[in-house]
Amino acid sequence: MLNPKQVTIPSLVRVKPGALDRLGIYAQRHQFRRLVLCHSQDLQPALLERVTRALAGQEVRQVLPITAASVESAQSAFQQLPGEVDAIIGFGGGKALDVAKYLGFLSGLPYLAVPTSLSNDGFCSPQSSLTVAGRRRSLPAAMPFGVVIDSAVCLAAPEILWLSGVGDLAAKFTAVADWKLAFHARGTVVDDFAALLSDATVMQFIAHPARDAEGVKTLGTALMLNGIAMAICGSSRPASGSEHLISHALDATSARPRLHGLQVGVATYLASRLQGQHSESIAGLFTATGFWKAIEQDKFSRAEWLEAARRAPAIKTGFYTVLTARDCLPEIELLLREDRFLAPCFV
Ligand SMILES: [Zn+2]
Repeated sequence: MLNPKQVTIPSLVRVKPGALDRLGIYAQRHQFRRLVLCHSQDLQPALLERVTRALAGQEVRQVLPITAASVESAQSAFQQLPGEVDAIIGFGGGKALDVAKYLGFLSGLPYLAVPTSLSNDGFCSPQSSLTVAGRRRSLPAAMPFGVVIDSAVCLAAPEILWLSGVGDLAAKFTAVADWKLAFHARGTVVDDFAALLSDATVMQFIAHPARDAEGVKTLGTALMLNGIAMAICGSSRPASGSEHLISHALDATSARPRLHGLQVGVATYLASRLQGQHSESIAGLFTATGFWKAIEQDKFSRAEWLEAARRAPAIKTGFYTVLTARDCLPEIELLLREDRFLAPCFV
């Protein structure tokens, strides 16, 4: 007999302009009347006013401004959680969403993710990226019950956040390629459907990579489906490979770590050169979206990247990627200096 997997995926999904103003209506439809709202501390006052107005018909039992994405703040929120709550809402940037998601997981309550930008695929993944005693960790958490993306709100967010989302999405090319390498070298089982979903999401966005209403919709949907691909196979493999290892190593060692998706995007193109596939598609996507231009305006340190690449294979034990397959350092050194897309990104 087959062993059916228990996969939780969002039941409520809205990606459209004005979705934020209808949040109360969506909550009501699912009988979520008593709510806890976690929002980014530095949220624009106008957005906070809008969400407050949208939820005017519900009973918002607690409003928690989130300053730190730490497991300690999620635990303290859990201890102070009022009784009789139907759902948790996370509203704003990554920190608020990660804490709210973990609060939903600890309390067993349905969680609604309402991101105000699309800078990475974390808003709909089965993990929370939180610090534990000051060190960043990826902790298992529950998938959101609902994802509500107001595409007009996300379109109005700073362009650099959008580019970060583009970089994180591009990683699906190299993540899936690393997954296949791991299968051939170590027998790591590839979940075909998750890999297919991951591939399809990036291809759909590449067909229309513009920063407009339609592009925000496809980017938001693609990042969400990536999270679902991870939930389906119970691993981060469909969305994260050697490019994420390099970014994690940079987070740990760089004097000034940048936005996740900016690091991941550049590392994705680099990894694609090592893997010998998809480089043209990735470079084309980055040219079309202005990703390269943004990186060139605030260049990375070549020395820091070489150090990160040296440390990257040891970041996750037993996680086979192109970086494990051979000593890539001499190739990386050459690529960072001489590749026509990479060289202008480094000093
Ligand atoms: Zn990522």
